[in-house]
Amino acid sequence: MSKVLVTGGCGYIGSHTIVDLINNGFEVISIDNFSRSNPLILDGIKAITGKVVSNYNIDLCDLEATKKVFEDHTDIEGIIHFAAYKMVGESVEKPLLYYHNNLVSLTNLLQLIEEFRVQNLVFSSSCSVYGNATELPVTENTLTQKAESPYAHTKQMGEAIIENFAKCYPLKYMLLRYFNPAGAHESAQIGELPIDRPQNLVPYITKTATGELEQLSIFGNDYPTKDGTCIRDYIHVMDIGGAHTAALKRMQQDPDGDWANIYNLGAGVGRSVLEAVQTFEQVNNLQLNWTYADRRPGDVIAVYADNQKAVNDLNWQLNYSFEDIMKSAYQWELTLADKVLV
Ligand code: UDP
Repeated sequence: MSKVLVTGGCGYIGSHTIVDLINNGFEVISIDNFSRSNPLILDGIKAITGKVVSNYNIDLCDLEATKKVFEDHTDIEGIIHFAAYKMVGESVEKPLLYYHNNLVSLTNLLQLIEEFRVQNLVFSSSCSVYGNATELPVTENTLTQKAESPYAHTKQMGEAIIENFAKCYPLKYMLLRYFNPAGAHESAQIGELPIDRPQNLVPYITKTATGELEQLSIFGNDYPTKDGTCIRDYIHVMDIGGAHTAALKRMQQDPDGDWANIYNLGAGVGRSVLEAVQTFEQVNNLQLNWTYADRRPGDVIAVYADNQKAVNDLNWQLNYSFEDIMKSAYQWELTLADKVLV
């Protein structure tokens, strides 16, 4: 069984990926200091998989502490690096926090990859590296533009750091650029846990549905789109998890094969905000309290992926629909409403 280190394993995408890795026979260890996550997610992973994942509660910016993990596990075959701060608005207010946390953790990890001769790395990147994309759908060849936020800039820089590192160390790596991950595991044992008030659409919708938030604002209805609201590419978080497993498998089974280093992970379909709200109402048989509001500064009009490269090269199957996203996200929110968070 191949051992994988997942950083940020208790986070939203990290935890769903761990479930998929375990289901595919990988042995997983995690590093997560719970700065943006909650230990209850480990219980959820255990409930789903029957496996206890050992998690190191350490800060990746602490090189010595991180080194201990590598000393304990000299047989790590691959690393999936999720751990990072990801709130666009916060990154604008606290740029140094983002540059420090997201980049020092990465360079520490690469230093240890070199020291302990780890072969494979999957890096959690984002479609925000494209900035205001110049063409739709966005392919991996679409030119990246100036980053719109310090968060996006840390992802652009993270990609460049890995690319340069791999020129002098024989690392196999893939940079996976996520579009809009949403939804939750169908068991409702794990899901998204936004700290503070959610900024993303789907958790805002689910919290409005439970009454935790009073009303959803749809930001802008005068965009040049089919119904005036913005277009995004929502992809089920379990499908994102599946792509990471597929990426690792491809790198391990075919290390010198003809695969690329950069892949878009999207469903490949653009959906409007209004469509998201209407689908949510339909599949969950309820009415959401929502209203139109002003445009949100910084929003791009439309962005969605061409995902063919990932589907073909990684042998990646997308198993979940837009409806599944909206159903599972709500089920998770209902479960969460009953949980006491520590
Ligand atoms: N959005 C919205 N109301 C909200 C949150 C988001 O209308 O309370 C819209 C937002 O303007 C964007 C889409 O939903 O068009 C997706 O926003 P999100 O923040 O989830 O993702 P991103 O902007 O990073 O693609």
